[in-house]
Amino acid sequence: MTAPLDVLVVGAGPTGLALALQLRSYGTQFRIVDRSLDRARESRAPAIQPRTLEMLSAFGVTDELVDRGNAAVGLHLHLPRRVLHVPVFDVGCDDTPYPFLLFLPQSETEATLTAHLAARDVTVERGTELLHAEREGEYVTCRLRHRDGAEETMRARYVVGCDGAHSTVRSMAGIGFEGRAYPQTFLLADLEADGIEPGAAHTYMTAAGLLFFFPLGTPATWRMIAMRPPGAPGEEVTLDLLQRIADDWSPDQVTLRDPVWMTSFRIHNRGATHYRRGPFFLAGDAAHIHSPAGGQGMNTGIQDALNLGWKLAHVCRGAAPAELLETYEAERAPVGHGVRRFTDRAFTAGTSSHPALRLARTHLAPLGAPLLLRATGARARLFRTVSELGIHYRRGPLSVTGPHRPHRGPRAGDRLPDTPAGLQRGVAGPGYHLLLTGPGRRQPEDMPPGVRRDLLSVRHIGPRSPWPGITHALVRPDGYVGYLGRGADLAGLRAYLDRWLPAP
Ligand SMILES: Cc1cc2nc3c(=O)[nH]c(=O)nc-3n(C[C@H](O)[C@H](O)[C@H](O)COP(=O)(O)OP(=O)(O)OC[C@H]3O[C@@H](n4cnc5c(N)ncnc54)[C@H](O)[C@@H]3O)c2cc1C
Repeated sequence: MTAPLDVLVVGAGPTGLALALQLRSYGTQFRIVDRSLDRARESRAPAIQPRTLEMLSAFGVTDELVDRGNAAVGLHLHLPRRVLHVPVFDVGCDDTPYPFLLFLPQSETEATLTAHLAARDVTVERGTELLHAEREGEYVTCRLRHRDGAEETMRARYVVGCDGAHSTVRSMAGIGFEGRAYPQTFLLADLEADGIEPGAAHTYMTAAGLLFFFPLGTPATWRMIAMRPPGAPGEEVTLDLLQRIADDWSPDQVTLRDPVWMTSFRIHNRGATHYRRGPFFLAGDAAHIHSPAGGQGMNTGIQDALNLGWKLAHVCRGAAPAELLETYEAERAPVGHGVRRFTDRAFTAGTSSHPALRLARTHLAPLGAPLLLRATGARARLFRTVSELGIHYRRGPLSVTGPHRPHRGPRAGDRLPDTPAGLQRGVAGPGYHLLLTGPGRRQPEDMPPGVRRDLLSVRHIGPRSPWPGITHALVRPDGYVGYLGRGADLAGLRAYLDRWLPAP
């Protein structure tokens, strides 16, 4: 048997690929395997949220995704008797370099991540399936089967299940997956559609349910998503069926043609009972699945990965105590739970056949939507949620505020907001980033002797803080604020570093 690895990543969908990128940036010893011979070629999840773009920018991936994708900032809400033009992400997104929803087929997202891994000498081992995994002493012994049928036994300190809804890792770890399937089935198609205004997303709200057109770009101009009509339960998904739905559900003259991909799928709402058991971790669809309402699934998976990767990397190189790994579930399980709750509500409101909800869709929504449009505060809160910019770990064990709590600006546990000077760009490399402000130009020599300079960079960002009252902020490797303080006393910061980045 070969020497044990630090981490085995099982599954090379978007979650596993993002995890691999982060582990690579630290030089962690890992392998990434996937049982399928090729990456997904279908478009699947079509939307990338602003927070995912921010987090991936640390790896130099985002510019390419933005170049390849279609940025949409408008939604046309087709209500009975009127169409509302809803600006998307025009409020509540003034602190991000990416104030838009990026439409890009999942296949393109995966291709981009795979190419960036290849440029860093990481090969995804395709046609390699995890058959069995069992903890033995301080390692997990894993049995893999290769594409030629040969089996291999290897050991790793940690195994991360990024292996989707039917996760092998989850069952090897004995972790439950609780929830339910929705009765509705959805139809998906990538195709051309004549008669709808390009460059915006379109939602048709009818008594029968919802119909969406998203500006995908490639491999076709539009992604259509619709509920399967009650009258066509087992009917094969054909252009003819989709055209009938468009005719029935949209008052516009929409003509569909040239489908590239058509499929139907059942939606579930399920969550893992734990995100970690001993050396086994779960991320992405292995940990949570839910309706595609709001385009959260793939994004949440990528962000799980980028919450976990640096923690594994720090612990594996002996730079952090093993308790750091406990913070993964503490931080990410509530996020997964919140996404499941939010998507469930949105899905139920949009699809339920309950008379009250049908009435709300057809009669109350046309009256209420214009009011909602004017309520910028409510819209900002909605966009913060959908864009995932609002995710925070304020109550988590890694979020600490110094003795004099600042009244304005970010709080410990929030993501580092961007500033006009492009602050986020300055905290992109691996490790923690300490931002110092104030006239004193405090420098690294203020840090405790022996602090790990390999995983801590210090930057003085000018005499005036972008957030009055905050003089020092320690930004975690995933772009969230770990410690915040004001004044000249850095004792609290030192205590934080002693705990989470102790001297070697
Ligand atoms: C048809 C379809 C349409 C979708 N449409 C949308 C949509 O419109 N909007 C949206 O937000 N989301 C959509 N999704 C969901 C979205 O694709 C997922 O949320 C996303 O792919 C999750 O990424 P992941 O990396 O966690 O898991 P996956 O992408 O499922 O990747 C898991 C990988 O693990 C591999 N694997 C599994 N078991 C093993 C094993 N034992 N050994 C080795 N490898 C293994 C698999 O081959 C796979 O490549 C759709 C999904 C499907 C299938």
